[in-house]
Amino acid sequence: MTTTQANDEAVKELIAALGKENVLTEMRHRVVRSASCSPFPVQQWKKHLPDIVVFPDSTDDVVGIVKIANKYKIPIVPRGGGSGLADGAVPLKHGIVIDIKRMNRILEIDEENMCVTVQTGINLLMLNKVLGELGYWHPDDPAGYVNACVGGRIGCSGFSLVGSGYGHTRDLVISFEHVLPTGEVIHVGEGGGKKIRKSSTGYRLKDLFMGHQGTLGVATEAVLEIFPRPEAEFPAFFAFNSFEDAYQTAYNLGKSGLKTLSAMVMFIICSINKS
Ligand SMILES: Cc1cc2nc3c(=O)[nH]c(=O)nc-3n(C[C@H](O)[C@H](O)[C@H](O)COP(=O)(O)OP(=O)(O)OC[C@H]3O[C@@H](n4cnc5c(N)ncnc54)[C@H](O)[C@@H]3O)c2cc1C
Repeated sequence: MTTTQANDEAVKELIAALGKENVLTEMRHRVVRSASCSPFPVQQWKKHLPDIVVFPDSTDDVVGIVKIANKYKIPIVPRGGGSGLADGAVPLKHGIVIDIKRMNRILEIDEENMCVTVQTGINLLMLNKVLGELGYWHPDDPAGYVNACVGGRIGCSGFSLVGSGYGHTRDLVISFEHVLPTGEVIHVGEGGGKKIRKSSTGYRLKDLFMGHQGTLGVATEAVLEIFPRPEAEFPAFFAFNSFEDAYQTAYNLGKSGLKTLSAMVMFIICSINKS
């Protein structure tokens, strides 16, 4: 079977499983899902167009897509906001892009156990808007948080700007459902149940299935830490004449143990003296 025949057969099965509106093959839909924000040369995007774009709605949908892809030996790439800087969401070998952005539901806000269960297509902006109305937030805070989806954070094992105070993505994701490249569904966490932060038994698979850039499958539902929103947020800006002074001050502040300090970011501005 040629690649074109395999794709045509796969499209028929994908439409039967997901509905026509959730299986896109037009050029305009494929082009926007070949790009990423990284310094990937723009002229090469057209070399890496996906053949098919699909929008799952649930873990079962993702399982179905993976099984169809395997049947016709078509590569798959999961994609969230496409803002990852390592190019992981670019479909280098074409095939099927699984766009998870329609899987954006908040499934449960558990105030007793201080966690929220979400589908991984939700972006951090949307999530924190809802949590904020209840006085909470999920403090995974990348500079690109407007675009970043929970699935993309898991795929990249992201770095949070307030990570020194609250931890980074690996600390803030408690557990998640994960569809393996075989189509099997596993639950990965800290070795215990979905909301268990610490267990002395069971394999801690969470770290293995974070930062894999989509190569180990698709995270579909995640349980995330939530915290009370700080009563006040005060971004203070200080200017220094030298990198060493700025570094030393940041170092001293970091070592001080100041409880209200949640993050420090150093911006370096070079001015050229023309005189
Ligand atoms: C202006 C700007 C500022 C940024 N600042 C930061 C920052 O401060 N800290 C930081 O960590 N990053 C930062 N980034 C990078 C980016 O925002 C993050 O890496 C973010 O996690 C990407 O999320 P996304 O939904 O866009 O993922 P995508 O780019 O769509 O995907 C990223 C990777 O994860 C995989 N993936 C996507 N969804 C899933 C899923 N459901 N299951 C498994 N794998 C999946 C993809 O295949 C890909 O390999 C920044 C980016 C920009 C453009």
